[in-house]
Amino acid sequence: MTIRIALAGNPNCGKTTMFNRLTGSSQRVGNWPGVTIDRKEGRLKGHDAIVIDLPGIYSLSPYSPEEIVSRNFLINDRPDVIVDIVDATNLERNLYLTMQILDIGIPVVIAMNMIDTVRKEGISIDTDILSKSLGCKVIETSALKGEGLDELIDVTVRAKDSHSDRPMIRFSDRLESYVSSVSKAVEGIVPEQNIRWNAIKLLEKDQTIVTELDKHVWTEKVEPIIRSLEKEFDDDSECIIAEERYSQIERIVSVSVKKSKDPGKLSASDKVDRIVTNRWLGLPIFAGIMFFVYYISISTVGAWGTDWVNDTLFGEYIIPGVRTWLENANVNPALIGLVVDGIIGGVGAVLGFLPQIIILFILLVILEDCGYMARIAFVMDRIFRRFGLSGKSFIPVLIGTGCGVPGIMASRTIESTRDRRITAMTTTFIPCSAKLPIIALIAGALFMGSAWVALSAYFLGILCILMSGIILKKWRSLSGEPSPFIMELPPYHIPGIITVIKSTLDRGWAFVKKAGTFILLACSLVWFLSTFSWNLAMVESINSSMLADIGNSICWIFKPLGWGNWQFSVATITGLLAKENVVGTFGVLFNFAEVSEDGNEIWTVIASMLTPIAGFSFLAFNLICAPCFAAIGAMKRELGDWRSTGFAVLYQCVFAYVIAMIIYQFGSLLIYGTFGIGTVVAAILLMGLIYLLVSKDPFRTRTANEGETSC
Ligand code: GDP
Ligand code: MG
Repeated sequence: MTIRIALAGNPNCGKTTMFNRLTGSSQRVGNWPGVTIDRKEGRLKGHDAIVIDLPGIYSLSPYSPEEIVSRNFLINDRPDVIVDIVDATNLERNLYLTMQILDIGIPVVIAMNMIDTVRKEGISIDTDILSKSLGCKVIETSALKGEGLDELIDVTVRAKDSHSDRPMIRFSDRLESYVSSVSKAVEGIVPEQNIRWNAIKLLEKDQTIVTELDKHVWTEKVEPIIRSLEKEFDDDSECIIAEERYSQIERIVSVSVKKSKDPGKLSASDKVDRIVTNRWLGLPIFAGIMFFVYYISISTVGAWGTDWVNDTLFGEYIIPGVRTWLENANVNPALIGLVVDGIIGGVGAVLGFLPQIIILFILLVILEDCGYMARIAFVMDRIFRRFGLSGKSFIPVLIGTGCGVPGIMASRTIESTRDRRITAMTTTFIPCSAKLPIIALIAGALFMGSAWVALSAYFLGILCILMSGIILKKWRSLSGEPSPFIMELPPYHIPGIITVIKSTLDRGWAFVKKAGTFILLACSLVWFLSTFSWNLAMVESINSSMLADIGNSICWIFKPLGWGNWQFSVATITGLLAKENVVGTFGVLFNFAEVSEDGNEIWTVIASMLTPIAGFSFLAFNLICAPCFAAIGAMKRELGDWRSTGFAVLYQCVFAYVIAMIIYQFGSLLIYGTFGIGTVVAAILLMGLIYLLVSKDPFRTRTANEGETSC
């Protein structure tokens, strides 16, 4: 019979790494909570067993969606064995979940993971004592290095039938007497095997369990027991149980863990954290690091790669080669135009940015994997919380730097409905990989490739998320308190080279695949519309094409933003299908396929059409306005209905318009001294924005600090 083994544990304890080791699969490993939001299954190598990777959780209370997924699986689906993965570098916090898992009454094996780091820190954990105190087997493992896994598999497979591995942690006698009273009260009502679990959860007034229970039993039998418990201990029952759990953990840890070092001495990791999460230095250091990242990826190393791809690979080989080949084969000129100017021009313009994107990904994955990005979530939490928002919203944003779709999906891990909805609506403000070509293009054409452009785009994204959070939470349907955000900082470690290569290749390949399919189709359509007139005759000048007519009919909308010509308007609209299309459209319209002596045509044409400030306004609008269709679809899944999704898209577009207009109008006023009706309108919009930001939140009842739960 197939054994079902569930991997449970806190976020970041190494479950997915372990899962990949045990099953030989390659699920995404990440360094912050919320990377695994659904359970994943795989076959245990060499055994008739299935391993299930559950989302990381801090407790078994059903608050956040991950907690519900994990808890329902453990309680209702009852796996044969639970492997509780414990991050040994953070024993106290991790054992809190362990205590609850032990109550379930399923055989448990504890994997004392990250043992490599623990040893390096000079800490020794006596697993025998731990094993005796907890009543189950404890195996030292390092999922990262593949240590202890054979023993873990061996013990786990055997644990299924051994009754001694069905452990139970006992509370103090006083509390135990209440647990047994409740157990008696619900005997025969709840399943026999779950009776202790249910009794404890009822004592904790767990809403799910309480609602499932017969109302009469709850009010007549259980509630009186809780009342007398609370009277005896003079505390809330939930807190009484939490406190007992923590004091047991303290006792167990004190006898089983020995720190060889002077406890007062800070570890190297703590010292670094003191600086990078410092109240004043945290943000400037982050900005400095991101500047460096963009400097390498956009301005220097990545840019050399991009120049080579554009000028040499496409300019000297692919474009002339394909053109000559088609001409020699006597292919119809229109078809040559489609292939060379449309497809190669459009897709080539997008693919040209691949070197910059790959370098950016490598650097971001390194920052993520070494543990630095987790610190940033922590630093951001402090800033977000000051404005009544939760820093938990920042994790989807970090994930969104790759692609907005998984970013939006990661918002699912936020408990508070309000924060979840606001995050789903604003995560895509951060530049994703598809928006990177727009940034690099504008920086290259108008700002001499400066890394400041990318850095300011990134921080503009964060600022817009913050501003939108403040504005949106004043809406009735989005009001409420911020989610508490507990996050332990994982120890720094050298990024795994395989993880870096794999993550980068995955993301890079997704970019190439999209360029070769969806963007290719869109560019063909743009080429067609820009080559023919309405009666399907080939046009002399692109300005009399169908596309020019379409663009001209809408470009007045963007005049106040400084780029109200048909080409930029059309590019913005095609960007709604996928943001890569903005550059793809430029590739077709501005003749990427024509490489002149002094480099690429697109650069020169754009530089002749826009002032730098109008270019930045174009960039800002395209970053903030409605994301691509795929992301809108993801938003609909998280928000639940089209009405809210429509509201979100409308909000994003209006917000983008206001920001871009303020940038363009005030930028032009400051730099070129241009003043006009647009300046006045922008001033009014700016005042309106400030009013929305500073006006009192009608729904805020408590101060941010009080929003945290205490027990
Ligand atoms: P999950 O959230 O529990 O699924 O954790 P992950 O598997 O995503 O791992 C979180 C981070 O911890 C990753 O950066 C891993 O490389 C790292 N990690 C996992 N297991 C170990 C281990 O045994 N030792 C060390 N030093 N790092 C580990
Ligand atoms: Mg995981």
